[in-house]
Amino acid sequence: MSLELPIYMDYNATTPVDPRVLEAMLPYFTEHYGNAASHSHSFGWKAEAAVDAAREEVAGIINAETPAREIVFTSGATESNNLAILGLAEMYGQAGGHIITCQTEHRAVLDPCEVLAKRGFEITFLQPDEFGMLTVEQVAEAITDRTILVTIMAANNETGVLHPIAEIGQVVRQARQARPADKQNLFFHTDATQAIGKLPVDIQEMGIDLLSLSAHKVYGPKGVGALYVRRRGPRVRLSPRIHGGGHEHGMRSGTLNTPGIVGLGAACRIAREEMAGESARLAALRDRLEEEILRAIPYVRRNGHPTERLANTANLAFGFVEGEGLMLKMRDIAVSSGSACTSADLGPSFVLSAMGVSDMLSHGSIRFSLGRFSHAGDIDFAVEKIVTAVAELREISPLYDDVLKNGDDGTIEWTKPAGQ
Ligand code: PMP
Repeated sequence: MSLELPIYMDYNATTPVDPRVLEAMLPYFTEHYGNAASHSHSFGWKAEAAVDAAREEVAGIINAETPAREIVFTSGATESNNLAILGLAEMYGQAGGHIITCQTEHRAVLDPCEVLAKRGFEITFLQPDEFGMLTVEQVAEAITDRTILVTIMAANNETGVLHPIAEIGQVVRQARQARPADKQNLFFHTDATQAIGKLPVDIQEMGIDLLSLSAHKVYGPKGVGALYVRRRGPRVRLSPRIHGGGHEHGMRSGTLNTPGIVGLGAACRIAREEMAGESARLAALRDRLEEEILRAIPYVRRNGHPTERLANTANLAFGFVEGEGLMLKMRDIAVSSGSACTSADLGPSFVLSAMGVSDMLSHGSIRFSLGRFSHAGDIDFAVEKIVTAVAELREISPLYDDVLKNGDDGTIEWTKPAGQ
């Protein structure tokens, strides 16, 4: 297969629209352009039918029971997270209410929590271990009788690390059921933006009450997503963020983005059908990339958990080089240093910092995230480029010069130089 440059290895930031998804969307721009809320003619009915079919697909990928009532379409996971957290807090909490989250969540979870902290809510930001993982015990210990929400992401966007979501769901459920019948206002939200389409997510088995997802991470279009809101056992009620025509059961007003929603539906259908094979293929490619780099370059370290992580993601710290410098040297490869979502800020990644990764290592860290259109040729080309770029940068690094003369201080478990 011929190599197309530049090579895209930033699928966790966003994905291209799958041509099959685009094809499904196209008629809804020019032919079936009705407003899904127009109940008086066939243009509206056609749009509504397409939206309903997409709702079934979105519900299907998470095993939701009643698509028509439980899937709320939004503009993406940022909005879904805001609706879940702020909407729930306004419905159930008063100042003094308690929310539990994790330090390595996406900003679209952390920032709404900060807003609530300013309004008098108490927020617990749990600290993950050195691998970026929480334990279910940490969550269980943090729950109090004032806790209204536990919000923990399924998979981290920077490291791919997976939290024990099913166990956390069980703990939240048990804590809720232990409360008196009129005080069972305790719910579990998960930002599953990075997990959907990459591994199975089942809201029933995992005890999830609210779940955020986004189309553009699963080969759908940008600007559309969904929030799953449990209807039964327990019923979750949210106070809307956007008021208007009462669409989406009053939870999210505004004319529905029919083509976008059709795209999200098609993306979920394809993901569901192809996920198992795709994940296995990507795991093999990711492992090849990681192993080749770790074998060829001394003073490299993996950030995140060795096994409990997404199949497509590798986050590696290259000692004695700057990630930004490295990226400039490998312009043919699109990767990200820290999170692309926050790369306007050149500080060390807060996700890596929360895991105890030093600023120096964090600045030398690169996230590689593979996807549907990655292939073996990309990996081999990327490895070659990275090996050369790291060698060139280290050649002019006084720090590396010092390490060559005196050895490193032994505090970090690096890959070893050849012969050691
Ligand atoms: N949560 C996570 C874990 C993400 O990776 C992202 C996208 N970077 C978001 C939320 C925000 O999603 P969206 O771009 O759809 O608003």
